[in-house]
Amino acid sequence: MQFSELNLVPQIQQALKDTGYETPTPIQGQAIPLILEGHDLLGIAQTGTGKTAAFCLPILNSLHLRQARREPRSPRALILTPTRELAIQIHTSLLTYGKHLRQKYAVIFGGVGQGNQIRDLKMGVDVLVATPGRLLDLIEQRHLRLDRVEIFILDEADRMLDMGFMPAIKKVLPLLPSRRHNLFFSATMPPEIQKLAQSILRDPKKVEVTPPATTVERIRQMVMYVDKKEKPQLLAHILKDNDLHKVLVFVGMKHLADRVVKGLESKRIAAAAIHGNKSQGARQRALKDFSSDRVRVLVATDIASRGIDVDGISHVINYDLPNIPEDYVHRIGRTARAGTDGDAISFCTAEEKSYLAAIEKATRQQIEVVTDQPYHSEDAARARIMSVGKAKALIEGQRDAGRPRRGRGRRPSRGHR
Ligand code: AMP
Repeated sequence: MQFSELNLVPQIQQALKDTGYETPTPIQGQAIPLILEGHDLLGIAQTGTGKTAAFCLPILNSLHLRQARREPRSPRALILTPTRELAIQIHTSLLTYGKHLRQKYAVIFGGVGQGNQIRDLKMGVDVLVATPGRLLDLIEQRHLRLDRVEIFILDEADRMLDMGFMPAIKKVLPLLPSRRHNLFFSATMPPEIQKLAQSILRDPKKVEVTPPATTVERIRQMVMYVDKKEKPQLLAHILKDNDLHKVLVFVGMKHLADRVVKGLESKRIAAAAIHGNKSQGARQRALKDFSSDRVRVLVATDIASRGIDVDGISHVINYDLPNIPEDYVHRIGRTARAGTDGDAISFCTAEEKSYLAAIEKATRQQIEVVTDQPYHSEDAARARIMSVGKAKALIEGQRDAGRPRRGRGRRPSRGHR
């Protein structure tokens, strides 16, 4: 699916193009059409799944289509989120996705002076992002009212509960108009959160993108620090162990899949690749060879792997780490199916460290580091974490630089993706 297939106004489509997004993440693909149709939504998704855009895009779209006058101190959409960091992140997303629209966005949170926030509200905002404490403070001081809110979004509800914001949320709810559009997001659904969701949502549609925790809990997850150029040797080294009898290897780019297969074959390890450039026939043949144990290793990209339904995968190896934590969870979920155990090994270079940090944050766990391997890189282990965006640009630049060029001297033009 492409963003262009979603029914978003051209100004938003343009902003997505500017950002470089082409394909909606699973939560976006499922949630955006439902929200655009006006349904209340229960979204069960963690940070890192793309949930911010999943609600920001349709909110911006709906408000744009239902033009209304901006009133001082009285937002048309309210996004409640537990932390200042999340609030800032959501506000930044609104500015990014809504930059071609004539709407105003503001963010308010505690721990800083009120002056600028009060001034922003007075000028009138369409979408307000807020943490609960500051929101109530400013309402009590009459700098803000909620009786014109058309869309109400509660983000990270389970974290709100953990942080003790439940009483504040219960104070906010009666201040909202009873007729409104509600979106409710939570990574987990403990009973108290279920009750809260029921009290807020009307006939909601449910979208869930996290696989059941039990699957992931049975997987032994490990990370190995390595320099980029030594990934092929590390892979071959690991595969010397015959306990790894059915191995799914994930790579970040199509051309790498073929290169990894060639490297393995040169060491007499039977391997096959599936990726988007292979014909349907070639993909099916590779899958059949893998499920019938004719090849021991299948090398895949995320997109190509979506249709893989093979039981008995003993190991998942992340040759490259994904920049979207949800992809990591999906990848490792290919092992340990049908009640069996499984292992997941991730290679991590210095540049990929921020991806690892994002995965650990989203899955709320720390992945065991295995240093007892001949290609262990202390540089990678000690590398500083940079922002995911910066790491992504760096890694994709490197991967592109290694890509064989078609035709002599042809270079991708500037801005070519
Ligand atoms: P979130 O789960 O909303 O915190 O988003 C996780 C990260 O994924 C953010 O850095 C977003 O900028 C990025 N992201 C969200 N949607 C997409 C998409 N469709 N394509 C590529 N990156 C995305």
